[in-house]
Amino acid sequence: MNRRVFLQRSGMAALSAGWTGCAPPPLNRSAASSGPPSSCPVLRVRLAAATDPAVGKILTILQDRIQTRCATAVLAANTDAQLIFDLDERLPAEAFRIEQKETAVLIAGGSPRGLLYGAGKFLRTSGYDGVFQPSTWRGFSNPQGAVRGMYFATHFHNWYHQASKQEMARYLEDLALWGVNAVMAVLPMINLQGWKDPQTEPAMAMLRQTVTAAREVGLQFVTGLSNALFAGAPLHIRATPLPDPTRRRGNSGHPICFSHPEGRAYILDTTRQLFENLVDVGLDAVMFWPYDEGGCACAPCSPWGTNGYLRMSRELTQLGRSYFPGLKTIISTWMFDTPPEGEWQGLTRLLSEEGEWLDYILADSHEDFPRYPLDQGVPGGKPLLNFPEISMWGNWPWGGFGAHPLPSRFQRLWDQIKHVAQGGFPYSEGIYEDMNKVVAVQFYWNRDQSSRATLEEYIAYEFGAGVASEVLNLIDTFERTATAAQLKQSVDVDAVRHAAAAAEALHQGFPEWVRNNWRWEIMRLRAILDHERFAGSGLDSPAAENALLRLIELYHCQLESQDPYHHRVRPPLRRAVSLRGKL
Ligand SMILES: [Zn+2]
Repeated sequence: MNRRVFLQRSGMAALSAGWTGCAPPPLNRSAASSGPPSSCPVLRVRLAAATDPAVGKILTILQDRIQTRCATAVLAANTDAQLIFDLDERLPAEAFRIEQKETAVLIAGGSPRGLLYGAGKFLRTSGYDGVFQPSTWRGFSNPQGAVRGMYFATHFHNWYHQASKQEMARYLEDLALWGVNAVMAVLPMINLQGWKDPQTEPAMAMLRQTVTAAREVGLQFVTGLSNALFAGAPLHIRATPLPDPTRRRGNSGHPICFSHPEGRAYILDTTRQLFENLVDVGLDAVMFWPYDEGGCACAPCSPWGTNGYLRMSRELTQLGRSYFPGLKTIISTWMFDTPPEGEWQGLTRLLSEEGEWLDYILADSHEDFPRYPLDQGVPGGKPLLNFPEISMWGNWPWGGFGAHPLPSRFQRLWDQIKHVAQGGFPYSEGIYEDMNKVVAVQFYWNRDQSSRATLEEYIAYEFGAGVASEVLNLIDTFERTATAAQLKQSVDVDAVRHAAAAAEALHQGFPEWVRNNWRWEIMRLRAILDHERFAGSGLDSPAAENALLRLIELYHCQLESQDPYHHRVRPPLRRAVSLRGKL
């Protein structure tokens, strides 16, 4: 069915249904002139599996995404449907199929989650030029990686810490449409004194809100556990600081010694209370974390990675399973063997003796992937997950200059492990690296999907058709600029100037829905700020100040903050202050 036929058909369907409540298409779009001037393009969707409330929720998500982008109204309808949602239990649970069924497009999922992923593919491959042009993509898709997580670092009053319930729910929906199936978040104990701290209850409520929002789109919930707990933990049970020759183990938290009897009791008791706070909303998996923050260098805990850490993780697993019987466990090896202490080797030895309690091993580093699991095999033969750091490399403060896409970097790192990784949990400090998130989750879905192909789909869906190559050029310039800054090399000032002009030209040509899309706004602000930083009059210029202020608004940052870590996630506007100093 070509677009004109589709429009006529949908217009007639709307009339026959007596539906007249839609706004006329915007007059400045070319598509408006191809339909009758008073036509009301409608997309009629039939829910073949209407008894499942999760399917109704997917219709609401589709409706919202289409109606935000164009003048087409999306309606549930039992007759004359142009789109059909169905569940097909013969498909793998997370798989979907999109096919032509007479005059309609059928999206079938192996479960509501599979259907949601199919709806995502359908949305991203449809057109929105004035009115809706349904996707012509047909086929079957089944994820290769079983764990397609996202780690929201909910602390420092960053976006995850500050977002409203509605914003968080919407963002989780957006990520789920791309194939995410698990979200991880923690109680920000680093910012809290203890359970009685007046800030703890709101922080717990926020964490529970994240879980509830994740559940609504069928995502699993994962939390992190370590020996770094509340800032107000008693001093006499604190861990012995670690040797840290590379300065990347992160000694800024408040770790507790697991070998101190009162320390062990404090860790078990604090974790028990955390579980009790999550019993009603549910917990699917825990991720144990060794360093940054965490660890203890005392003799009975050393070497932490294969001694105190493993003893603690095993005990917390038992405790967790008494609350959540199906609880899965992920053990992180972050910063293992830096300096070399035989931690990887020790983990292999211990898991060969006793490893049933553990489900996954997670590995990664700030730079290249650790060699041990690639060269020697994954300890215990467990499935391997990665943990790409998508937020902090090449920008400071994190997200401080807007969008921060690094598709070439993540392609290179993925290529080192794509033959063995079964998924992962990108580490995220905010929404500014949204592009890095979708690149990573699409790697997990299909290990051979290139970052560039993912971004082409992203650009068409978020910024409209016909601008992919221009936006990809912008992304390339942003990545090259960030890389030069990170490596202390000189920035290509001509490219920065060109990117700023190109972003402005794109902005002038974009329809309203793209201009109002925060994903475009942070791209444009990045172009402006890179220009002011490297080719203009610096961050004090009026253009830069306006851009920084707008980012502060988008991220819900505080201009005056009591949080000594907030400056790490707040755009560097000169008049913004940290009242309790900067850690
Ligand atoms: Zn210790």
